[in-house]
Amino acid sequence: MHDDPKIKSAGMLKQNIFFDLFPDPILTFTTNGTVVFANSVFLNIISGKKENVIGKHISEIPLINKFGGTFDHVMLNTAKDLERIEYNNKNYEAIFFHVTHAGEQELLCVILKDITDFIHLEKELVKRNKELIIISTLSRTFISSENMDVVIEDLLDKILLITDFTIGWLILKEHSSYRLKASRGLSSGLEKRIEEGILDSVCKNVADMDEPFYIVETSEISDITMLEREGITFLTAMPLHSNKKIIGFLFLARRDMVTESFDFDTVALLSLIGNNISLILDKIKLFQETRRLAITDSLTGLFNRRHFYKHLAIEIARSKRYGNTFSLMLFDIDNFKEINDTYGHHAGDMALIKISDIFKAVSRETDVVVRYGGEEFIIILPNTTEDAAYALANRIKQTVQETDFKISTSERIRLTLSGGIASFPDHASDEHSLLNAADQALYASKAAGKNRISCFKNTSCEKNIQKTTKS
Ligand code: GH3
Ligand code: MG
Ligand code: MG
Repeated sequence: MHDDPKIKSAGMLKQNIFFDLFPDPILTFTTNGTVVFANSVFLNIISGKKENVIGKHISEIPLINKFGGTFDHVMLNTAKDLERIEYNNKNYEAIFFHVTHAGEQELLCVILKDITDFIHLEKELVKRNKELIIISTLSRTFISSENMDVVIEDLLDKILLITDFTIGWLILKEHSSYRLKASRGLSSGLEKRIEEGILDSVCKNVADMDEPFYIVETSEISDITMLEREGITFLTAMPLHSNKKIIGFLFLARRDMVTESFDFDTVALLSLIGNNISLILDKIKLFQETRRLAITDSLTGLFNRRHFYKHLAIEIARSKRYGNTFSLMLFDIDNFKEINDTYGHHAGDMALIKISDIFKAVSRETDVVVRYGGEEFIIILPNTTEDAAYALANRIKQTVQETDFKISTSERIRLTLSGGIASFPDHASDEHSLLNAADQALYASKAAGKNRISCFKNTSCEKNIQKTTKS
């Protein structure tokens, strides 16, 4: 180090010997950037020799050259001198300070602290944080879920928000085919083609691989010209599972990304998203199934009495608010006890299922079909007058009357039912009185010989069952 003309004093010499023993890389240079000293740790890191470093400008020295362009006196004096450098897979933080001895040339020094482990931890922390955000964001979706379609739309929005993807769509298996349930960033043309099954081969590949996710090869993308025309350069698909079976796929895509820029963090992120969505969809299904079971009758699949009361209250409130009429149909199977007594309880059950299927088939989507009791049924008919309800009830009565009920491999029987109709607000002022009115009309049908429908408005008249239909 004596050979450097810029290092003159004994004080400087001592300092350099001290710097040489220092465990961190250190470099000293003049205010115009000429290197005057580099310790052995520094030289080791850059695999350089002292004579190739000293006297050179810092912009020519590896590791430190990034300061060559930006370095100036002002930058040092403002002492905001912490800078990060990446070199040979290591990370350093550069700390600058002045080393000036009285009466000597002003020199600057940079110490490089190895912060590789710290950076690693920091990255890990950012990653974990992102994972936590994903998990908490996605699980919040489930908590607020009522309707599967709404949840899926919401999920897709959130996934795009927390990832770098700009395009996404989700397809789910419905019956035997896949349906596009939600999409973002796709042209309507591509949406239509996806609906038509343009990605069926990709889905098959993803299903065959059964990995957490599948990156669609660039060549595969260009095979599907529609994807290429949309400018999609990166496409990944994640199979979604329920009960270990694939129930759908989440596709995420970008227009400005190449496969090579896909890194390990994105891989981890995608796996996490895929697993979480599967879990969420599973929970929603379970949630919906539990809810369905709570409101349906297990034998017939019709709504149960509890659900009926809830709906009746809603319908009454709606009618009071908007002034529309709705009707209630009450049915009771005629002589059903005999069926049980003659053919057994199982045959009776089969008949109840078949009658329920007739109710379901004949009623509209907005009607609420209920198994009210053993062999008693109620249908709530929104926006339906008594006369319209009467016509429909007669159709049901007729269909039941003409249906063969199979009670054994060889035997078939016929059944009939009686019905009563009442309407709101015409015949009642609340739930209780409306049910009572329908019950009275039903009683009138039974009293008049069964297999007929009666309207409440006629039951209170002198001629009790004017408007009844004879079988
Ligand atoms: P009516 O014409 O007066 O209605 O005569 P009915 O024999 O139908 O008389 P009622 O309505 O009083 O009898 C109902 C019968 O329905 C009694 C019971 O054996 C039968 N039942 C009720 N619930 C079920 C069920 O879940 N399965 C079966 N198999 N039978 C049931
Ligand atoms: Mg009964
Ligand atoms: Mg009966």
